[in-house]
Amino acid sequence: PTRADITYFGAGPAALPTDVLETAAQALLDFQGTGLGIAEHSHRSELATNIINEAKADLASYLDIPAAEYEVIFMQAGGTGEFAASVYNLVGAWVARQHAAVLKELGSAADEGAVTAALRARVETGLKLDYIVTGGWSLKAYQEAVRLLGPEYVNLAADARAINDGKFGKIPDQSTWKLSNDAALVYYCDNETVDGVEFPEFPAVLAPRPDGTGPVVVADMSSNILSRRVPVSNYSLLFFGAQKNLGCTGVTVAVAKKTLLPPVTTQPAPALMRKLGLPIPPIMLQYETIAKNNSLYNTLSIFDVYIAGQVLKKLLKTYPDKVDGQQAVAEKKASIIYGALEAHPDVYRIVPDKAVRSRMNICFRVTKNGNVDDTEKAFLKEATSQGLTGLKGHRSVGGIRASNYNSIPLEGAEKLARFIEAFAKA
Ligand code: PLP
Repeated sequence: PTRADITYFGAGPAALPTDVLETAAQALLDFQGTGLGIAEHSHRSELATNIINEAKADLASYLDIPAAEYEVIFMQAGGTGEFAASVYNLVGAWVARQHAAVLKELGSAADEGAVTAALRARVETGLKLDYIVTGGWSLKAYQEAVRLLGPEYVNLAADARAINDGKFGKIPDQSTWKLSNDAALVYYCDNETVDGVEFPEFPAVLAPRPDGTGPVVVADMSSNILSRRVPVSNYSLLFFGAQKNLGCTGVTVAVAKKTLLPPVTTQPAPALMRKLGLPIPPIMLQYETIAKNNSLYNTLSIFDVYIAGQVLKKLLKTYPDKVDGQQAVAEKKASIIYGALEAHPDVYRIVPDKAVRSRMNICFRVTKNGNVDDTEKAFLKEATSQGLTGLKGHRSVGGIRASNYNSIPLEGAEKLARFIEAFAKA
C-alpha cells in the first residue's frame, strides 16, 4: 500500500500530516537553501533559536497559554521522564517554600542545625504527593513517585479500579478523593491512552480558590493535547510527549508556572536535600535550568521541534478560532465512531463508562457467537485489508483501540464507522 491508502489509528507514534512530512523531508536535505539539513545545523545557531521561539509562540497562541506566567520548555525526557521530573521539581519547590517559612519562624540568625531539624520535621509530617489513578499511565506515574521518594510520601488519593471490579474504565467521584493538605502536587492523567478514559473537564475540586491560592495541579496531557481548550491557569505543570498530536517522537513539552521555578540559587541546595533524604533532579530534568537556557541547556533535537512547529502552523492556518476549531472536529469524529459502535450493542462493547470515554482513544471489544478472540482477530484482519490500520488494543488490556488523534481526517473516522457497521452486519 501507499500512504494514501492507509488511515493509521495507532496510539503513538501517530500519523503525521503528509504535507508536513514532505516539507520536513526537504528540510532534512537542505534547510532553506543553506546547503545543510535541519538535523545537521547547530542547535546553537540562530536558525535553531528561531525554530524554538516560533514553536513556543505558536503553541502559546494556539492554546492561549499566558506567556508572562508560564514557561514552555522542550525536553527529551518522554512522558516517562516527566513522571520523574514532576516529582523532583515540585518536591524541590515544596521544600523551598517550607525552608522560607522556617527561616521566617526561627529568624534569619537561627543556626543551621535548628533550621534543618525544623525542616526535617515538616518533611516528615507534611510532605505528600497526591495521585489520582485512572488508568495505566497515571498508575505508572504514581509508581515512579513511590520508587523515587518512598511510599510514605506518596498518597493514592483515588484509585479508579476500586469502583470497577479491579479494572480501569471509570473516574471516582471527586467527593471521594482523599486529597492531602498542602500537597507538593496533585497529579492526574487527562487522557488515559491505554484505557480510553478521559477527564470530561478540569476537575472542579482542584480549581484555584478565589484568592488565587489552590492545589499544585500537574496533568499528563500526552494523548489529548491540542484537541480541546485547556484552562492553563489552573495548572502548575502540564506536560506531553509530541508523538501523538504534536509531532514526532523525540521531544517532550513541559508548560510550567514561573512562580514554581525560582532562580536555581533559591532552590534548596543539593546538600540540604540530601540531609532531608530527598532526591534532587538530574540537571537535564531541572525545569528552571532548561527554561533559563531557552530549552538549550544541552543538545536538543531541532528537527523534532521543527516538525512540531510545522504541525502548529498548519493547525493555526486551518482553524482561525484555534484549538476550539480542532475541538469541534475531534468531538464530531469521536461521536461518529462511538455512534457506529453503539448501533450494534450485540457485537460491540465500549470498554469505559460513557461519562468518561475518550475522544482520542476509543477502546472496545468485539464479539460474535460468544467468541471475542477470533472475532477481534477477524475484525483487525479485515480492517487492515481495507487500509484501516493500527487498531490493535494495548498489549496489557487487549481488545480494539482506535486512536482518533488530530491527524485522522473526518473522512478517516467516517471510513472506520462504515467498516464498524459493515463488520457487524456481515
Ligand atoms: N503518558 C501518556 C498518557 C502516554 O500515552 C504515554 C505513552 O504512550 C506516556 C505518558 C509515556 O510516554 P513516553 O513513551 O514518551 O515516555
